[in-house]
Amino acid sequence: MKRVLVTGGSGFIGSHLCERLLKEGNDVICLDNFFTGQKQNVAHLIGSPYFELVRHDVIQPYYAEVDEIYNLACPASPVHYQYNPIKTVKTSVMGAINMLGLAKRIKAKILQASTSEVYGDPKVHPQQEAYWGNVNPIGLRSCYDEGKRCAETLFMDYHRQNGVKIKIVRIFNTYGPRMFMNDGRVVSNFVVQALRNEDITIYGDGSQTRSFQYVDDLVEGMMRLMNTPDDFTGPVNIGNPGEFTIKELAEKVIALTGSRSKLVYHPLPSDDPTQRRPDITLACERLQWKPVVQLEEGLKKTIAYFEEELRRER
Ligand code: NAD
Ligand code: UDP
Repeated sequence: MKRVLVTGGSGFIGSHLCERLLKEGNDVICLDNFFTGQKQNVAHLIGSPYFELVRHDVIQPYYAEVDEIYNLACPASPVHYQYNPIKTVKTSVMGAINMLGLAKRIKAKILQASTSEVYGDPKVHPQQEAYWGNVNPIGLRSCYDEGKRCAETLFMDYHRQNGVKIKIVRIFNTYGPRMFMNDGRVVSNFVVQALRNEDITIYGDGSQTRSFQYVDDLVEGMMRLMNTPDDFTGPVNIGNPGEFTIKELAEKVIALTGSRSKLVYHPLPSDDPTQRRPDITLACERLQWKPVVQLEEGLKKTIAYFEEELRRER
């Protein structure tokens, strides 16, 4: 039995990861400050003798004896990470320093949840890990993008300087059940708007693209990466190469929900990337991983989740 620490464990992705780690017989510590995560996401795991929920902020040092650390603590939705941008940078940078310091001290393996945002508004398409990106260092998204880039730097430096066993995963847009309803991200916004027959808010003209991966595929990829030999650090892209315009996504959601919603257009937020699609050659080769849930199937499961959430609200 491995002892595993998941920071940001009560968030959307973290809760699925904790669930899967428990299912596979691990002893899990879920650490979270509940900024965007909710206890409700892991309520069904409380009671297991192998699950512990700890309220803690990664900006402060934390100590526990574990074998592996998944460092996910950080708000991921633009609305939330821009709410308190200084805190977002602190969470990424000081959180990485604290967790890497812990990993060094207890000789644990540590995985960083990085992001496709390190590629910024990419000039290379699809994005390969070797691409250095096109990031605005002083814009509204910079607190997240540059915070995550600095965290990658810290991971590599702790590895080179102190021999810490590290893994870096660059996660592309992920969706699924337990996304926060008011999270502001596109899939949750569109699905909830469609189910309520409210206007679907497209930012810009809807021609910008994203590649959406279902959360179960991501969790599988992250766990495979954690189990690779120590000399393989990544970064590795984990995402679904199926690429859609935001308008196509809106139309798909309307079709799948049978909604009466209309599309309405709002201004495009600053520095919103125009295109995004992962090159997953490295993940295929090194992790024998590729996504198995395609958009329509994943959206159906997500719609079913939000239907239930909305029913509970009434
Ligand atoms: P989320 O907001 O649902 O989860 C983040 C979790 O971190 C929340 O539970 C939040 O309360 C917690 N947290 C935030 N600041 C903290 C702090 N200072 N101390 C302790 N806990 C803190 O977002 P998510 O979608 O589950 O994202 C999880 C991770 O994956 C994040 O690091 C995010 O950057 C990364 N990621 C997500 C996506 C995506 O599409 N969902 C894409 C790329 C990268
Ligand atoms: N978006 C949109 N309507 C919304 C929410 C988001 O058109 O209600 C767009 C947003 O401008 C971006 C894309 O959808 O182009 C993905 O946004 P999200 O916030 O989910 O993720 P990110 O921009 O970080 O990839």
